[in-house]
Amino acid sequence: MLLSNSFIPILKNNPSEAKIKSHQLMLRVGMIKQASAGIYSWLPLGFKVMKKIEQIVREEQNKIGAQEILMPTIQSSEIWKESGRYDDYGEEMLRITDRQNREMLYGPTNEEQVTEIFRSSIKSYKSLPQLMYHIQWKFRDEIRPRFGIMRGREFYMKDAYSFDVSDEEAFFSYNKFFLSYLKTFKRLDLTAIPMAADTGPIGGNLSHEFIILADTGESKIFTDKRIFDLNSDDTQLEKSSLEEMRKKYEQFYAVTDEKFNKDEFEKIVSKENQLITKGIEVGHIFYFGDKYSKPMNASVDLPGGKKDFVKMGSYGIGVSRLVGAIIEAKYDEKNEIMKWPLSVAPYDIALIPMINKNDNSALVKANNIYSELLKNNIDALIDDTDENFSSKIKKMNLIGAPYQIIIGKKSEGDLLEFKETGGETQNLPLNKIIEIIRQDQATNPDQPRCHPGRVVGAAT
Ligand code: ATP
Ligand code: MG
Repeated sequence: MLLSNSFIPILKNNPSEAKIKSHQLMLRVGMIKQASAGIYSWLPLGFKVMKKIEQIVREEQNKIGAQEILMPTIQSSEIWKESGRYDDYGEEMLRITDRQNREMLYGPTNEEQVTEIFRSSIKSYKSLPQLMYHIQWKFRDEIRPRFGIMRGREFYMKDAYSFDVSDEEAFFSYNKFFLSYLKTFKRLDLTAIPMAADTGPIGGNLSHEFIILADTGESKIFTDKRIFDLNSDDTQLEKSSLEEMRKKYEQFYAVTDEKFNKDEFEKIVSKENQLITKGIEVGHIFYFGDKYSKPMNASVDLPGGKKDFVKMGSYGIGVSRLVGAIIEAKYDEKNEIMKWPLSVAPYDIALIPMINKNDNSALVKANNIYSELLKNNIDALIDDTDENFSSKIKKMNLIGAPYQIIIGKKSEGDLLEFKETGGETQNLPLNKIIEIIRQDQATNPDQPRCHPGRVVGAAT
């Protein structure tokens, strides 16, 4: 893609209305544009990142056997009256009346809708378990929408739902999602730790919030810091291995302020391992048994002939919030350098040719490099504008492709000035550069790279 053809409206300075660095950067490089309070349009750069995050989330859901569906954004109030939440949910719910005077609402979450789908066709334990998810816009009329898309009113969420015959089977489902969350966040190059959490308005008995550390986070956390050394690499997708994995995380004290108990914390965690800090909630999982299936009468036939209400859990990931969360984790605000993880980067590499009025040989060279990269499934952005060198670098540092090639006077012969964004320059031939990036891509093998139709600027 040529920068001159792209819609990346960059601002010279940080917008004053933005209080945290993710909001600043997203406005600064034109990833989003506010439409009204807590509601945003997603512009090309931001949209590309969000779609890549969404795809990773999707792949990790599919890997545990969850099936993708798509439920509507607008729901009927009827099912919410059945569950009892129509009154309970309060002012965060956006209520709408249609022309027939029917009470509708813009879904803040989908437990009722998915239970209604389930009960209409599944009648026997033989069809269980069922794991279903969708990735869809939600609306919550947050009292204080802030920090851009981090706490929006309209936001994009993956929400999954599990249906099982017994508590034991339901915990198995819960643990599958627990593992898939660890793997999802790892592919986004984030360390998200699972914390025992309150179940809040969703209700129920077992719950974990997945939190990444950030000073600007809204969740206060109390943990044994050794939890950060754990990983789930050896976990198999079977009952005992999953149970063991969850226990491994749960052995360390890690809670948000709702569950915090000072005496308990100081008793369980030794002084040198205590960590009290702030974080961003990027995911939340719940087990709540028959909280919805009972009032909504979603039951199944059991092996012995009896009937029982199906046991349910729900599992959310804030897909749009993750765009901001990754920036909070990766953006070097002081030097104004963003380096996206390659798995979600809007472009894999930036090509920065130095162009003079009467000499565009660097641009020709950039175009040739571009074609060669494309053949290798590497998506590049060329700055073909005639701005000066330092403003070109500044701009690309903000856009945040994880690699850069500078094509200037010094780029004679086969060696190119190559660097990881924010890192040291190395002089390397193109085939070596391609090898480095391909290797980096291979750590995320499922991710589709270039997007046909979005690339222009063929070799001249
Ligand atoms: P919070 O405590 O931040 O309000 P929540 O507990 O209400 O979150 P859930 O109902 O568990 O959130 O929703 C699942 C996920 O959706 C959250 O973990 C978060 O990543 C995301 N999310 C929730 N509310 C918002 C919002 N207003 N804007 C953006 N993302 C959100
Ligand atoms: Mg909330």
